[in-house]
Amino acid sequence: RFITFEGIDGSGKSTQARRLAEHLRAGGHDVILTREPGGSPGAEEIRRLVLEGEPDRWSAETEILLFTAARRDHLEKTIRPALEAGKVVICDRFADSTRVYQGITRGDLRRTVDKLHALMIGREPDLTFVLDMAPDTGLARAKGRNGTEERFEDFGVAMQARMRAGFLDLAIEFADRCRVVDADRSEDAIAAEIAALIDGVLA
Ligand code: C5P
Repeated sequence: RFITFEGIDGSGKSTQARRLAEHLRAGGHDVILTREPGGSPGAEEIRRLVLEGEPDRWSAETEILLFTAARRDHLEKTIRPALEAGKVVICDRFADSTRVYQGITRGDLRRTVDKLHALMIGREPDLTFVLDMAPDTGLARAKGRNGTEERFEDFGVAMQARMRAGFLDLAIEFADRCRVVDADRSEDAIAAEIAALIDGVLA
């Protein structure tokens, strides 16, 4: 099974991905926890190229190519081998993030994202948790973090609101695999809802 977490910056994806991995491991599942951009040595290198350079280093189109290249490597080296070995793969972000971030934040590039996805990735998750959170809450949490990867977090509340809407639109477009979870709650409450949802699916 291939499970992804999506949502705006600061919505708690990494925490909930880890909590779900712990829950499933406790239930006897063999779980790989991974993330994008990154998740394989090559893809982590591309992550640094994209996130640690000056903000305008790459055009929007080049950025789509880089994120797709990273995803391809991640798929080849980490995700596909784990799935073929019968493991549960939990990934913090996947193609939906590119559909929203690269697809809408710097012009309307969704068609470009989709074409490259069809050509180079061609795999959707079996289940996606969309963590939904008010844009100002997410932004405040994301900005409170240390690190070098904050260039995308300078978008401001208006852009966060557009991205939130983008993720909710995707949850409708891919309703078969997406579950929207209210992330404006305690970590434990969110983890409990996700655990209940996953137990229904994996049972
Ligand atoms: O999820 P994580 O914090 O690791 O993402 C790092 C940064 O990359 C975030 O600021 C996020 O907004 C950005 N990102 C992006 N396009 C993607 C995935 C992540 O701009 N497809």
